[in-house]
Amino acid sequence: MIQPSIDLRSDTITRPTSDMLKAMYEAKTGDDVFAEDPAAVELQERCAALFGHESALYCPSGTMTNQIAINVHVRPGDEVVCDRKSHIYNYEGGGIARNSGASVRLIEGDNGRFRWSDVISEINPSDSHYARTSLVSVEDTCNRGGGSVWDLQDLRDIQTGCRGINLPLHLDGARVWNALIARNNNAVPTEDIWRSYGKTFDSISVCFSKGLGAPVGSVLIGGQSFIEEAHRTRKVLGGGMRQIGGLAGACLHALDHELPRMNQDHFHAQELAKTLENIECVDSIEPVDTNIVIFSVKAHVSADQFVSWADKQGIACFPFGGQKVRFVTHRDVTEDQIKRACTLLKQAQF
Ligand SMILES: *Cc1c(COP(=O)(O)O)cnc(C)c1O
Repeated sequence: MIQPSIDLRSDTITRPTSDMLKAMYEAKTGDDVFAEDPAAVELQERCAALFGHESALYCPSGTMTNQIAINVHVRPGDEVVCDRKSHIYNYEGGGIARNSGASVRLIEGDNGRFRWSDVISEINPSDSHYARTSLVSVEDTCNRGGGSVWDLQDLRDIQTGCRGINLPLHLDGARVWNALIARNNNAVPTEDIWRSYGKTFDSISVCFSKGLGAPVGSVLIGGQSFIEEAHRTRKVLGGGMRQIGGLAGACLHALDHELPRMNQDHFHAQELAKTLENIECVDSIEPVDTNIVIFSVKAHVSADQFVSWADKQGIACFPFGGQKVRFVTHRDVTEDQIKRACTLLKQAQF
């Protein structure tokens, strides 16, 4: 398929810039399975330090980093507590059961977010009748929750509760960059904010191939012994890679040059949401915290109809279940394209 002119399907479609390609070309490389790839080592060290942890591991995808984390934290028969909207439950091919033999206990949160009080009632008693509750996982921002940003105090309460009973807490931080920037009034936070946020969790998965624009990769962050085990699981899953310096170089470049512009995606999402507010066929718009806009179309229009109308205008987007449609803003959608999309959307008639 030829790329549509205004592509709001996903922030995964971002392509490396020429500066990023140059950084990839210049990155030093070696065999990463032997831990001899200088750029991968630098990326891992930088990610661990940024989030206040000891160690990190570069992997081919965010699904893999999440699945490895789950695999290291749980044993077969255990239970993972997460929100019904979470990526680990909805979009990882049933990997929790398939890779780790564990089941899930779902919380009905607020756009993917919940509180410690919601978690307590889902933790099983330590009695052999019950599955052992061995992990709590949160997603900040929550994709299916419309890029929703968590309240810091809620996360700290969950951390305190989990630590009190030795229950590990995992963060699916595929869009943690968006979360940290949004919570900091759309500016890149200082180092101590990253670190204190990172220390809230026992393990963290962060993604470089979405809003940050790198072609491939996620990094799993945690303590020394956790990452040692993660190495083993990555190998077993076939995720050990060799000369990946170029890929890691893209991620390093993204940290320096893409993070500072990510707030633009948030402003663009706000512009789209404001336009949608005045469109006849739009019924409601979910709160827009970051770079994702989820809205419902009125009953006389189906989401598929709306999406195919938009497609004809050169705006690509996805239906998102029921009457819902999702727009995602990202680095490859320019200010001009957003303006054009708003003009086109105002003409929507059904
Ligand atoms: C995209 C995403 C992932 C990982 O996706 P991959 O395509 O496997 O890299 C994980 N969690 C969330 C919330 C995501 O949006």
